[in-house]
Amino acid sequence: MRRPIVVANWKMYTNLSDALVLATSVRDGTENISGVEMIICPPVIWLTDIAEIIQRKISHLALGAQNIHYLSEGEYTGEISAPMVKDTAKYVIVGHSERRKNFAETNSIVARKVATAIDTGLSPIVCVGEEKKDQNLAGEIVKDLKDSLAHIAAKDYKKLVIAYEPVWAVGAKEPATPEYASKVINQLREVVSAETPIIYGGTVDSSNVYEFVRRPEIDGVLVGRTSLRAKEFIKICRIIEEYKKII
Ligand code: PEP
Repeated sequence: MRRPIVVANWKMYTNLSDALVLATSVRDGTENISGVEMIICPPVIWLTDIAEIIQRKISHLALGAQNIHYLSEGEYTGEISAPMVKDTAKYVIVGHSERRKNFAETNSIVARKVATAIDTGLSPIVCVGEEKKDQNLAGEIVKDLKDSLAHIAAKDYKKLVIAYEPVWAVGAKEPATPEYASKVINQLREVVSAETPIIYGGTVDSSNVYEFVRRPEIDGVLVGRTSLRAKEFIKICRIIEEYKKII
């Protein structure tokens, strides 16, 4: 069975003290949760501070970076490479829609980042999703995923997490319908291996998360805004624990 996963994407929010308080609350509030892997992706500058707080305390709490460069080192002022985050983080978000949109990241750049992450020993959380609400775009999303995985071997698919994030539902008022998310995820499943977790992201909160995770094909969620509210985020983790135990 695939492991249930919840990813917290803190985006470009939190100063150091906010980050420490939030990480401590999440650590304490998730102490008794079992069977769910919880991945916190703070701004990269706080990774080592948060590692001090959470790592080695709760084995199913892991850290992730929100981005890496596709090269391991070089003259790229301001960039962060996979080897730089490797000692602290286990995961890295790659191809998030905000990076595709604001930093012109194409599938070919994403594919290079995925390959670098794998070569370095990081597990990429690969985001794909259509920009506009349109029921007929599943084929394109499948192509985006195939293109984003172009430089890695099928044997490495088990190291990935795929996040289906319809762009129109990220930072929105309403999530996609669970039926629609399931339909697309079933098609993405054809691209990767049976072991690869595929999660949904886009306006998930504690009131709607069960509608997604009660479906066996949806292995968890990626949470943006709501992951900045400790109590809400912990509630989401508990709901996933409960529903994934039942299925
Ligand atoms: C995200 O950051 O990928 C995301 C899904 O954000 P939100 O939960 O705020 O829609």
